[in-house]
Amino acid sequence: MSELPKTFYDKADRVKFYNSRRWRKLRDEVVDREHHECKECKANGIITTDRQDGVVLEVDHIHSIIDRPDLVLDADNLQVLCRLHHNAKHEKYKSMLKSHRKKSDEWFG
Ligand SMILES: [Zn+2]
Ligand SMILES: [Zn+2]
Repeated sequence: MSELPKTFYDKADRVKFYNSRRWRKLRDEVVDREHHECKECKANGIITTDRQDGVVLEVDHIHSIIDRPDLVLDADNLQVLCRLHHNAKHEKYKSMLKSHRKKSDEWFG
């Protein structure tokens, strides 16, 4: 764990984490675990998978990396969301950290 930041308030620390090999690997495992389907869409009876055109799936930290930096690499704290649902979830963090305007929604977990 020593290579991982202890907190993720700084953009540089988030970049470092999301670019790490360990995150990339875990992220792919979670997408496979969830059969490449958005959990929120599924809860609404809709199957949204990255095999469909224009669909982007992202792996979300249920407890955000800002709130629970100790759970960043905990597979039980991860879920698969389509980009729309992921963006919706993170609106509150985006307004909280307004100064960091980013198009990627992975910044906040
Ligand atoms: Zn969705
Ligand atoms: Zn997220």
